[in-house]
Amino acid sequence: MTDVRRLVPRTDAVLALPAVAAAAQRLGRALVKEAVVAAQGRARAGEIAPGDVADAALAALPGTPTTLTPVLNATGVLLHTNLGRAPLSAAARAALDVAAGTCDVELDLATGGRGPRGTAAIDALLAAVPGAAAAHLVNNGAAAIAMVAACLAGGGREIVIARGELVEIGAGFRIPDLLTATGARLREVGTTNRVHRDDYAAAVGEDTAFVLKVHPSNFVVSGFTHSCGVDELTGLGVPVVADIGSGLLAPHPLLPDEPDAATTLAQGAALVTASGDKLLGGPQAGLLLGAPGEGAELVGRVRRHPLARAVRVDKLTLAAFEATLRGPVPPTRTALDADPRDLLARAQRIADRLRADGVDARAVESDSTVGGGGAPGLTLPSAAVSLPEPYAAVLRAGTPAVLGRTERGRCLLDLRAVPPESDDALAGAVGRAR
Ligand SMILES: *Cc1c(COP(=O)(O)O)cnc(C)c1O
Repeated sequence: MTDVRRLVPRTDAVLALPAVAAAAQRLGRALVKEAVVAAQGRARAGEIAPGDVADAALAALPGTPTTLTPVLNATGVLLHTNLGRAPLSAAARAALDVAAGTCDVELDLATGGRGPRGTAAIDALLAAVPGAAAAHLVNNGAAAIAMVAACLAGGGREIVIARGELVEIGAGFRIPDLLTATGARLREVGTTNRVHRDDYAAAVGEDTAFVLKVHPSNFVVSGFTHSCGVDELTGLGVPVVADIGSGLLAPHPLLPDEPDAATTLAQGAALVTASGDKLLGGPQAGLLLGAPGEGAELVGRVRRHPLARAVRVDKLTLAAFEATLRGPVPPTRTALDADPRDLLARAQRIADRLRADGVDARAVESDSTVGGGGAPGLTLPSAAVSLPEPYAAVLRAGTPAVLGRTERGRCLLDLRAVPPESDDALAGAVGRAR
């Protein structure tokens, strides 16, 4: 008998095959070679025929050289931190493609000279928040707060902040640590549950750079509580900076307790900071919005600060951010506004189809949340496809991967954050997981 191992084709020979060479063009030689070597190993072990090495290697290749895997968000959490928060609109994705090449990000095509960077994205933001007189973009919400602290209080000046607003954002990162890392000092006022205007007034002095209001975006304190709105904190002789977190630009009827940029500026905040990839529905970014007068002047100072360069947004962010604001409603907003009756109808359609294929599926009402540091404690009525619990693990490992949530022994696929055009993909994934 011939030793099969001698029939296993050589690596170079497999790599020279047209289909394999084409894959190497697309994915890089190293990645393809790795797959070929793995397939050769399987052939030597007798798992596949020596003649199938090339096909097995090709079948094992990923679609792109990134190891990131698309995941359908069926958790019912609108902004899922572990899934990258807001999904981008088709318009923003298309803009990313334009910016990915060489583009006129800092060039004036009319004169051939250097052009201002990022003005179109800033103009789009100012158009969306007419009450702001100036705006600036940085890498994320944390960078926006850090820049304000570094710029206004970096030399050991004081930031006055309520004890109940010393927030841990997530993954162990804490706003107070972020602030003091810039060289600023904190002057804490009030208690965990209560703070009054008098507390702030007593703390403001010579060394105060600004009063900071941080939205407790991932927890609620209830009971014997009191906090001060931005409107109560003006007139203390120092600017009020408000970190609203979610990037909601105007009030939203479903989110009565979530602060928005327009209202916060109207209440007298000099500066508002927020994230771009939460309720705004855009790419990761940090927004700084300045009120007319002092606020606008402060935005200018932040823009000229030496650290501004270190947290500067790239051309991809500028493109996606502008397209999010100027283009059609982004998916996060569509999902937030989805009518629960429509969600239930979709769940019923999917469940009916799956039951016809013998799956124990039923449509159920469910509760979804905003997540991602927004609207804590609020539930949005939603609908889900309920499956036996073991589906959860199989769906997670499938293509596309589907992340649901487990509740009372069932795997729920909540449709709140699933775009309607993904219903077929979702049903298909469940069908294959059977
Ligand atoms: C999310 C959040 C941040 C941090 O923003 P990133 O964009 O994640 O850096 C800061 N403050 C508040 C209130 C938040 O909700």
